[in-house]
This record gives sequence, structure tokens and C-alpha cells, in this order.
Amino acid sequence: MKHQPKSSTGQRPARYRSLAAAAALAVVIPFSAAAPVLADANFPSPEGNTSIASILTYDDLVQELQRLEENGRFGVDAFTLEEAGTQVNKSEQGRDLWVATVGTGAEHVWIQGRIHGNEPYGTDSILSLLKDLGTNGSADYQLLREKFTFHFIPMYNPDGSEANIRHTILWDKATDLPELGSNGREQRVDLNRDWTPEGFTANESLAFYEYWTKVKPAYGIDIHHQGLKKEWGTGDDVTLSLGISLAPGGPTLPGIKGGAYDELTRQMHVHVYDELSKYGSINMDRYQVGNGLEIDIKGGVVSAMMLGLDYQGLNPEGHSNPVVFFETSGNTSDGSLGQKARGKSIRQNILAMKELLLGLATGEVQKEDADRWEDIPHQPVNGYSTDYAGTIPLP
Ligand SMILES: [Zn+2]
Repeated sequence: MKHQPKSSTGQRPARYRSLAAAAALAVVIPFSAAAPVLADANFPSPEGNTSIASILTYDDLVQELQRLEENGRFGVDAFTLEEAGTQVNKSEQGRDLWVATVGTGAEHVWIQGRIHGNEPYGTDSILSLLKDLGTNGSADYQLLREKFTFHFIPMYNPDGSEANIRHTILWDKATDLPELGSNGREQRVDLNRDWTPEGFTANESLAFYEYWTKVKPAYGIDIHHQGLKKEWGTGDDVTLSLGISLAPGGPTLPGIKGGAYDELTRQMHVHVYDELSKYGSINMDRYQVGNGLEIDIKGGVVSAMMLGLDYQGLNPEGHSNPVVFFETSGNTSDGSLGQKARGKSIRQNILAMKELLLGLATGEVQKEDADRWEDIPHQPVNGYSTDYAGTIPLP
């Protein structure tokens, strides 16, 4: 089936706009870790030769999704949120928001990338896994298709991706210019701080939130980039950090579902850590925000999923699901995405997703020892960086 991007514009509930915008803009806790430091070799590369030309554009994405839909042997369906029927269904600048599904399983899996527009390889990684699921007849992919129905969001933030910036820019449809704030400046929204009980500022947020309430996934994965990072204690280059946006054992996660996600999210990452440790080029640690602080944010998209956020009555039964995130080292902003590292960076994301999904499908993940989360390299924890109570020190 062919889908053509359409030009109609989405509507946002204007009454929520200014209050929510102020709230979203006021809270800026970087998802990336400490400032980039020098690293050796080429994975990740500190050489500053980021080739923007090799980064997938929005048009590349749409073409590739349509190609995968046409060529897939196993029922890839690529569609826009307008076609999916969400009330808000375009980016701030009016771009279609794309999803692709594959698989026939009873459990739904949500996999999103590039919510931060300058963190490109989530798109490449997701398209590659989608291609494998759509074309590969081997037992692993057959199991995944039978067990799960996948909802891939390869480019959550198309406007930010086109501009190679982290945020989306609030846009005035009438003038086709940025919507200026009370200070006369354009307003940038971090989409990964924009699922909050107080409101959803940007179109992208409410659009994907409504879709999430329709899907009701069982699990989620979120793909990001961080700056260049050294392993605490050894100084080795980290290529991939494993994160949970509500800290295990922290102020929030143990209180959800009787602690079920506190255990399962750690099991998910312990499994990924074990499986990917077999590859010599991948060096993992735990995602932390620096100075021994663990992240514990409630307005992040995947945090809101775990909290079962009910906004505007769209999630009345309070559906929730566990989610983990991956942070590949190197981003476009600090010029650390060397071309030589591209293939390895994308490959480690694909491996991480595939091993995690296979582990969930076979039940291996659910048998992991969650306490081995402590074995994954990390700085000793001395507190939590939150978006609701500042920094909370360990008692
Ligand atoms: Zn990010």
C-alpha cells in the first residue's frame, strides 16, 4: 500500500500551550553525559570529522520506509499518524510523523529513535532492524515476529533532525515562522521532557502519546547519543551506556507496579550487558548524569510510559510499560561522529535491540539476576538528578 505525505495541519489544544511551554522550557536536564573528552582510535572518533552528508534526512526516511513496505516478505506496514487517526498528527513544521509495524505477536513493542534531532543513528539502527524483521526468514526473526508486534518510530523528531538540533521549534502555521515567546525569541522544546501531567507543549508529543495509548505496548526501547565518555575507574572509552530514566532503587521506580519495572528494567540491561560483552569493540557502562548522580525524571517520554500517565483522559486505565534506553557515544554537536565509527555505532544499537528482544521472547531476560545491575561499570551513586525536586542526595 502506498502512502503519500499529506499537507493538512494538525491542531494542538491551545489552552495548554503557554503554561506547558513555560514548564517544558524551564526544565533542561541534559540527557547527554559529561563534556566530551579525548578518546583514542576511531570508535567513537574525536577527530571532528562528522559528515552530516551521511546522516539520513527526512526524505531518506520516507523513501526507505516505503521501500521496506514494498519489498518486505513479512508484512511491513509503514504509515503516518494521520493515517493512524491521532487527532494531532504532524510535527510543529507540518511534517508527517511516521511509524512502521511488523510482526503478528500478541505483545506490542515500542521502539523509538531520534527524539533528539542531532542524535542520528537511532534512525539508521531502527531501519536496519525493521529491514531484518521484514525480510529475514531465519529462526531468530521468525520468533520475534511470532512473539511480538513491533511499532518502530525511526524519527520521532523530524523537524529537529532536518535542522540537526536536539529540540523541536514551536512553529506558527499562519506565518510559517517560529512562534515567538513573550521574550520575542523562538521557543525550543526538548521532546524528551514533554510528556507531563501539566501539558504537552509540542505537536509531536501529543501525537505520539495518543498513538501510544492506542498501542498499549508491553515493552519499549529508546535510542539516543551521548558525548564521548570514559569509563569511571578505568578511563577506557565507553561506546554504549545503558540507561533507565527512572533510577532503579531510586525515589520513583520501586513504587511502580509493586517494583516490577524496577526489577525487569535491570534484568533487561543485565541481559544486554552480558550478550554485548562478547563483542570486543563494544564497551558498556551505566548511563549517569555525572558526579555520581542517577537520572530520575518524570517528564521524559519513557518515564511517563512507566508511570502510566493519563493525559486528557486518553489513558483512563493507566496503561504503563517498562522501557530502557541506549546511549551511543558520539554526537553531531561536538563533532565526534567520525565516519569510521558510523558502522560500529549503528551495529551496537542493532545488536542491543536484537539481543534484548530475543531475551524477552525466550524468557531469558526474566530469569536474569537484577542485582547484577551493580556489576555494570558505573560511578558510585550519591544521589538523583530529578525534574521534580532538584537533586536528591542519597540518605
Ligand atoms: Zn537524546
